[in-house]
Amino acid sequence: MSCAGVSRSCARASRRCSPGRTVERMPRADGFDADVAVIGLGAVGSSAAWRLAARGLDVIGFEQFEPGHPWGGSTGQTRLFRVACLEHPGLTPIARRARDLWRELEASARVPLFLETGGIMIGPPDSHLITGTLAAAAAHHLPVERLNAEGIARRSPANARIDAGDVGVWDPEAGILRPEAAIVAAVDAARAAGARIRTGVRVVAIEPDDEGVTVTVDDPDAAGLRVRQVAVTAGPWIGRFVPDMPLTPHRVVMTWFRARAGHRADLGVLPVFIRSVPGHDTWIWGHGASDASGSSEFASFDAKVGPEFDGPFASDDPDAIDRVVHPGETDEIAALVAATFPDLEPEPSGATTCIMMHTPDGQFVVGPTAHPRVFVGGGCSGHSFKHASALGELVAQAVAGEEPFTEAGFLDPRRFAG
Ligand SMILES: Cc1cc2nc3c(=O)[nH]c(=O)nc-3n(C[C@H](O)[C@H](O)[C@H](O)COP(=O)(O)OP(=O)(O)OC[C@H]3O[C@@H](n4cnc5c(N)ncnc54)[C@H](O)[C@@H]3O)c2cc1C
Repeated sequence: MSCAGVSRSCARASRRCSPGRTVERMPRADGFDADVAVIGLGAVGSSAAWRLAARGLDVIGFEQFEPGHPWGGSTGQTRLFRVACLEHPGLTPIARRARDLWRELEASARVPLFLETGGIMIGPPDSHLITGTLAAAAAHHLPVERLNAEGIARRSPANARIDAGDVGVWDPEAGILRPEAAIVAAVDAARAAGARIRTGVRVVAIEPDDEGVTVTVDDPDAAGLRVRQVAVTAGPWIGRFVPDMPLTPHRVVMTWFRARAGHRADLGVLPVFIRSVPGHDTWIWGHGASDASGSSEFASFDAKVGPEFDGPFASDDPDAIDRVVHPGETDEIAALVAATFPDLEPEPSGATTCIMMHTPDGQFVVGPTAHPRVFVGGGCSGHSFKHASALGELVAQAVAGEEPFTEAGFLDPRRFAG
């Protein structure tokens, strides 16, 4: 098994070696260096910077590493995209707006970012996996297909092994995204729209007041910058700037698997899935391999299978997360793969760590905070990447004082106050 885990010292070294750390002050006639500072250019922040700059706002974006880096919540080659969002029916319009924006980025970057594969949810009829998916589909009249055992085997032969009584739902608009490439494309689009992008620069403090916000970075040559507003899109590090956000970082080990000799486990037979595990009271998610699916121009990857459960680590400090995948850590997911997919080798072909954030209600935090000059975009909860471009749009709309393109009150960061 190859291990892509890395140590904290590597992470720090990559930051130290980054180019472009100099942060020149550029005070304008009004005394401000920019209208908005975007702190963190990962999934949400790169799109927030893009959407803010596209509105003509004067934007400066800070990223402590390089765009598309592996140290936050957006690493691992692929992310699942679904429109029938079992987590909340209100997410469907956000997913659709996000897809439009991903497509726009694909066109400007001339890089494939989104591959529609269709997706299958499999579980007991009364499980949230099925009822939540159907609720989103009903709320938005989505063209999903209900499947029995034969239908599941027809739509996804590699998913044919199910418990008696399990049913399926086919979401034809599901697919996969390339997170690292998408973030790079959004940062490039932000730059092209006029944003100043500073990479390898860590923001160490923000001090909001009545007129604006002072932003302090770890560049000893840069005095405090003054901006009118800040968008905190620091992913696992949001709590450093908005301490009253109840976000908990968790360590997740991602794993990839190859087909057994003579068997298929490509996207053609194993499209995007979330499903219960035969004989077990848990579920897994993932997708098939890129080979033999005609998707080689999209990217090259093995089948990916991940667990419902998180790793054992839960801490307030994302920098303290162990980046190394240790022997035995993948045994549990290997057993679930063996129970579910007879076409896959149960021994992982690769594994790496990633940080997942959890909010108490499993929804994101997007919009204003208690301070009128500080906005937030993030909250991961294991399902935000698909929406990230549209979450960036919602952050931009909140900062610009516009009406959101869809009802997003259930994501309001202030819902946790008190
Ligand atoms: C294992 C795993 C599987 C997942 N699967 C899916 C999936 O299939 N589908 C889906 O939709 N979602 C999925 N998610 C969730 C999704 O990937 C994440 O929620 C999302 O990528 C997080 O984006 P973010 O912008 O909030 O954080 P990040 O992408 O981590 O961005 C935060 C950025 O802020 C920067 N930063 C932080 N502090 C500072 C600072 N002080 N100064 C400057 N820069 C700073 C960081 O370096 C980073 O680049 C998954 C998550 C995990 C962990």
